[in-house]
Amino acid sequence: MSRYTSDEGIVLKTSEFGEIDRIVTLFTRKRGKFQAIAKGARKVGNRFGASLDLFSFSEFLFYTASGMPLIVQGKIQKLFRDLLRTPLRWMAGEYLLCVLDRVFPFERREEELLDEVLMLWEIFLRHEEAVLPLLVRFRLDVARALGVFPELRECVRCRKKITGTPCFFSIASGGVVCDSCSREAQRLFPLSLRELEVLQALVDTPLGYGVKSSQEDRKAFEVLDVLVAQYLSYQGERKIPDFSSFLGRELSW
Ligand SMILES: [Zn+2]
Repeated sequence: MSRYTSDEGIVLKTSEFGEIDRIVTLFTRKRGKFQAIAKGARKVGNRFGASLDLFSFSEFLFYTASGMPLIVQGKIQKLFRDLLRTPLRWMAGEYLLCVLDRVFPFERREEELLDEVLMLWEIFLRHEEAVLPLLVRFRLDVARALGVFPELRECVRCRKKITGTPCFFSIASGGVVCDSCSREAQRLFPLSLRELEVLQALVDTPLGYGVKSSQEDRKAFEVLDVLVAQYLSYQGERKIPDFSSFLGRELSW
């Protein structure tokens, strides 16, 4: 049975296929992450225009017969091209795609994460100072969607409330552990009380323009960046770099 379907979404990545085609990894509203073929997408003046470009949000028409769907048509709904104007925005915008590409499973519909990417792109255009906190938050939201949101208040092993230092985050146990339980827990990541408080506050704040980091918290977010990257790599079973390392890379598009 063959059929046409339409869906809207973003491009996580594309790779060359055959002489003139591309395989496109998409993240869409109805279907989540999947791959489709864009025939002739590498020809100059092809019918897809900018709909397959980085930072495009587009409506696509697919044709499915057997195997991978074909992208028949792409129509841009919104283009966040100004993210390309500064390296920090660009890399922050692209980092969201990298996380979904690496750790999110195929064929799992997750509309909220799609909307979150669009919202974060919008925020990155105006608030560069919020990039790092929001990237920490995004990865926690991805962990939530994967069903592995970490415990941040009580010791994940004995359920005692964490009140002082030393405190640790156990990447293997999925949350904070108290000093006495830390001896048996695996893959420990030490946290200062301030870092833990910053993390708790970040999770409690509704996602939006309110999330900013003061200069003092900046150090805490640099630590949390490393922590959530390690946590999501462990839980998602595929390595993602922390954002600081990602920033140091070459621009890939
Ligand atoms: Zn404990």
